[in-house]
Amino acid sequence: MKKLFHVAGLAALVVVLGACAKKEEAAPAAAAPAAIAAVNASAEVTPFTIGELQAASIVDGGNMLPNDNKVMAVNAKKADVDALLTANGLPTDTLSLSIHPLLVRTADKVLLFDTGGGALLGPNAGKLQANLAASGVDPASVTDIFISHSHGDHIGGLVANDALAFPNAAIHMQAAEWAFFKSQAPLAAIVALVTPKVVEFEPNADLVPGVKAVEIKGHTPGHSGYLITSGDQSLLYVGDMVHHSVISVQQPEWTIAFDSDAATAQASRKEVIAASATSARRIYAYHFPVPGMGKFEQMGDHYMWKAE
Ligand SMILES: [Zn+2]
Repeated sequence: MKKLFHVAGLAALVVVLGACAKKEEAAPAAAAPAAIAAVNASAEVTPFTIGELQAASIVDGGNMLPNDNKVMAVNAKKADVDALLTANGLPTDTLSLSIHPLLVRTADKVLLFDTGGGALLGPNAGKLQANLAASGVDPASVTDIFISHSHGDHIGGLVANDALAFPNAAIHMQAAEWAFFKSQAPLAAIVALVTPKVVEFEPNADLVPGVKAVEIKGHTPGHSGYLITSGDQSLLYVGDMVHHSVISVQQPEWTIAFDSDAATAQASRKEVIAASATSARRIYAYHFPVPGMGKFEQMGDHYMWKAE
């Protein structure tokens, strides 16, 4: 120890440190980008990563639907629905659907996939803003919003207090969906506010770096999923292709009343679930139990949801 404080020893140490500094200077340090900051976890915010990207599942709310074949499984018998739920350890009186938009931070953008219900769904939803605040995410920092479709539980959160809730964000949606959005008279006030921000795209378009639209037909006239990619990792955001993690996956032919084209929606579910199971594609499901990431897996003659 004492030797270090000897003048000669100290000089030697300086030489060594100097050599280290020189070595670092020579390395291509400038090429390495700064790491993207993770989203802070909080009670209803679950951070995760997609390659280099920092993402978070953010709870907006949830809905308890009666299990009466009026909304879910409208073309099935209640006894069959009950049997399926029981086999999966779920209650048969109500069906629980979560609502959780997805936030993704890239090197230079903040992306939001759907916006929750805002004020449209009453006390069951509209917690997105509070949960963003709890995780330190400023709504003004969101650069791009990607809308899967224009049902209230996905677009209600675009506005707050009669103003844009994310004032600096471009709002991306498929052109056919924007036409449908504008055709819904009860949404006129929201349409008026968001119109200057809407960026329409054609099916399956490349949108911003790392985000590609993936058309998933049937739920609404221009329903779109989104494929988010970073390096060799990716995540498919499927919007409302599926609603219930047991019913929609194990019985994709059972229709939800909100599907505008039931036959096409059934075909989309079956096709995307099968293809995603084959490729072990990572999925983000907006209405499945929190936080909503997982995979579809084949089990005998049907598929199941395997949550992360
Ligand atoms: Zn929905």
